Amino acid sequence: MSYVIPAIPRPSIPVHKCSERFAVRRIYCVGRNYAAHAREMGHNPDREKPFFFSKPGDAVLPDGEGMDYPVFTSNLHHEIELVLALGEKGSNVAVESALDLIYGYAVGIDLTRRDLQAEAKKKGRPWDIAKGFDNSAPISELHPVSEIGHPAKGRIWLSVNGQMKQEGDLQDLIWSIPEIVAELSRYYTLCPGDLIFTGTPAGVGAVVAGDVMEGGIDGVGSITTQISAL
Ligand code: MN
Repeated sequence: MSYVIPAIPRPSIPVHKCSERFAVRRIYCVGRNYAAHAREMGHNPDREKPFFFSKPGDAVLPDGEGMDYPVFTSNLHHEIELVLALGEKGSNVAVESALDLIYGYAVGIDLTRRDLQAEAKKKGRPWDIAKGFDNSAPISELHPVSEIGHPAKGRIWLSVNGQMKQEGDLQDLIWSIPEIVAELSRYYTLCPGDLIFTGTPAGVGAVVAGDVMEGGIDGVGSITTQISAL
């Protein structure tokens, strides 16, 4: 195969204790999947089903790599999330077999230009520019299911410059991991290389140039992302 422009490099993330990388296809994200975060954003978690949005696959930023403060925002928010990495294809998957699609897990940060998101919500416009910008998906190395199993509970947290900002537990997910995979597979044929960000616990907030975000999930892994100083 040859192309009229240079072939675009495949985004990928490292796999723990493995020399081969995980090739990224798409990034799906779940909105509002922890009750306390839904409440802090002004919603009633009991009455609204979680919903999906997406980021481009090349928005991934590997653990430890710095990034510049994004353009067109003055309110960049961190959202620490458990990330599922799919190794199998599936559509209309049953909840009972949904875990079979998962290759491994990672810790990710769903970076959000909150000011642009608020404007989009107000005007009924898409969230793409608020959620899917360059480097908007910092992600840790992947930990295969063969190494860590399927996490169902565990502390999830994020600190900024050493100060704790977000804390929750995977037990508090409104929709469980198999339910997320099953539901998303009704809308899209899920494929190897797809990542699913599963929503963030309470405590989201702004970061500025020079800040260091550290986050982790017990039994899964950790991530560090620094925003370049001005
Ligand atoms: Mn999120």
